[in-house]
Amino acid sequence: MTMDLEFDRHHIWHPYTSFKNPLPAYPIVAAAGCELELEDGRRLIDGMSSWWAAIHGYNHPALNAAAHSQIDQMSHVMFGGITHQPAIDLCKQLVAMTPADLNRVFLADSGSVSIEVAIKMAVQYWFSRDRPHKNRLATIRGGYHGDTFAAMSVCDPVNGMHALFQGSLREQLFAPIPQCSPSDDWNPADLDALQQLLESHQHELAALILEPIVQGAGGMRFYHPQYLAGARALCDHYQVLLIADEIATGFGRTGRLFACEHAAITPDILCVGKALTGGYLTQAAVITTDTVALTISDGPAGGTFMHGPTFMGNPLACAIASANLQLLTTGNWQQQVAAIATQLEHELAPAHTSKRVADVRVFGAIGVIEMHDPVEVAKVQRQAAELGVWIRPFGRLIYAMPPFVISSAQLSQLCRAMVAVSA
Ligand SMILES: *Cc1c(COP(=O)(O)O)cnc(C)c1O
Repeated sequence: MTMDLEFDRHHIWHPYTSFKNPLPAYPIVAAAGCELELEDGRRLIDGMSSWWAAIHGYNHPALNAAAHSQIDQMSHVMFGGITHQPAIDLCKQLVAMTPADLNRVFLADSGSVSIEVAIKMAVQYWFSRDRPHKNRLATIRGGYHGDTFAAMSVCDPVNGMHALFQGSLREQLFAPIPQCSPSDDWNPADLDALQQLLESHQHELAALILEPIVQGAGGMRFYHPQYLAGARALCDHYQVLLIADEIATGFGRTGRLFACEHAAITPDILCVGKALTGGYLTQAAVITTDTVALTISDGPAGGTFMHGPTFMGNPLACAIASANLQLLTTGNWQQQVAAIATQLEHELAPAHTSKRVADVRVFGAIGVIEMHDPVEVAKVQRQAAELGVWIRPFGRLIYAMPPFVISSAQLSQLCRAMVAVSA
């Protein structure tokens, strides 16, 4: 039996596609370790970790066991007025592994929703402090925070969806993309524009929201830890909360458990998602300080924080996430990520010889080849698949963030394919 790709093409929306000439959808029947298995039996080495999520690879025995044991207990039960061990286990680990001041956890059902929750928290915090005018957001250009409306309003205004949804989005305030990369000498002038923005708009700003160090889907850029440290100091100075979106960077991807650690800062509100469940199920978390949580709790409306999605704290997702974090904290992700980074540096470097390539950069277990011109996605994906690897370029970017458990031979094959398709 073969999959009905005709039906798929005509009836099912895939991410960011049109029904007119959609990009091909590859039929996948199984996945194990770092490989995706196509219907025709071919296996592709996965360069994407299913969008940053599958850090321990697919079909992992420990995660499968957690899923089986939880599903035999209960797959789901509402979180309103009910609690359960999987949520308690997960939140204990989150509180323990995040910076010391982050103690209060809100479980959300996806990354974008966690961004909505974080923004609502920031706005409700200032409302509770009797400063309801502080309800706008500042961010940096080149960011990506998700596809829901508040999240879209802080995505990059050019490559995001602002033009299309003009009039439907709240107008937020944008600082320029930081210029200093992590390997550059730090130039304090990089922070000038952000400082001016916060100074002139402090009275109306609830929070600064940013992706620490690595801007992901907005352009795969890396910026200097001193920028992040400076942004934290500016937020304190101008009384603006700092929301760190670690949905892509969290759980080891950048070489630290959280990218905020590169600058030794603690945000007021932290969002995690993607790798939280090891890529098994959708679940995200918003973690905040006692100060933010208790200020909201002392506020109007009886101190109620006004959010509560149906699948909040889904026990199945929590049980798997809990097992996933255990794998992470007892495993050797630090060596794995460091080894991937070194190998990406060496084996993507030959891409520099192509005139079509504008830049090659690596940070943690993330490798990026930036082209001068937009990539023909369908063609590049087909070429990569012929070379036995799965990548999903966007814009001018051919990039990979493989599972931490990728072998050195698999990573070599991935790098060779990326260099070949960019030649
Ligand atoms: C993927 C992503 C989101 C959105 O998460 P979803 O689970 O896709 O809604 C938000 N912020 C960042 C940095 C992301 O990478």
